[in-house]
Amino acid sequence: AGRDTTYTVHIASAGQAVVLTFQDRTAAEDIYQFRTDFVANVSHELRTPLTALLGFIETLRGPARDDAAARDRFLEVMAREAGRMARLVDDLLSLSRLEAKERVRPSGSVVLANVAQSALAELQPVTDAAGATIRFEDQSGGANIAAEAGELRQVIANLIENAVKYSEPGSEIALSLNAPAHEARLRGVGVRLVVRDAGFGIAPHHIARLTERFYRVDNHRSREVGGTGLGLAIVKHIVNRHRGRLLIESIEGEGTTVTVILPVLDDQ
Ligand code: ADP
Repeated sequence: AGRDTTYTVHIASAGQAVVLTFQDRTAAEDIYQFRTDFVANVSHELRTPLTALLGFIETLRGPARDDAAARDRFLEVMAREAGRMARLVDDLLSLSRLEAKERVRPSGSVVLANVAQSALAELQPVTDAAGATIRFEDQSGGANIAAEAGELRQVIANLIENAVKYSEPGSEIALSLNAPAHEARLRGVGVRLVVRDAGFGIAPHHIARLTERFYRVDNHRSREVGGTGLGLAIVKHIVNRHRGRLLIESIEGEGTTVTVILPVLDDQ
């Protein structure tokens, strides 16, 4: 049931009052709807690889039992599907951990450039496998930010993984850090972390929805490249918790630029 909102409108000339009652959707109802949709989405996302796994197990038990070549092929697909489920569960756990501490301010103080360097080192196997080159430009001037290093590394990892996934193999990706000029900093302008790719790009009408859980521009492509549909939702949560801003700009067929703006610590 909705919440009744009563408005009393006085009509001055007639000296009368008219009572109007509307039914609003309450915040609680919206949350309920969000939860229901989320559970349905998660179930569907887990069911798809599970159905594939069960199908392959049946085939391996029956028709393909003595076919060594088929067995190898199937095991490879099964490993991929199981990997997909594992990534999905990891991303769901990340999201719920982030939700639990959404209002807690990050306590650590980190040098942004150092965190970026270590994130890039961790990502090397991913970028190497795709033949991608990362160009790192550090113009952050040693800026310190209030952040949890692990969460920042996750932001960088998710953005660079997306740049790799949605570009041709062997393409170049840029990660740049830009500190605001002194004047701008005094006005509270933050440090920018920018990931730019020259990949497939995104049509404008999708952009506002990309941080929604499970929203994908192209379901097939996202699944092919191993996406969970949760990467940008996680980024958004982390950026919010760090009181930052997230901007996504893209031109279809040309590439995408994602900018995270984070507050610089005052004590510099
Ligand atoms: P996914 O796991 O599917 O990559 P994300 O939440 O990280 O999920 O991203 C949501 C969708 O946004 C992706 O499915 C993809 O369609 C689009 N997207 C994200 N980053 C890029 C990018 N750099 N270039 C093109 N499309 C992108």
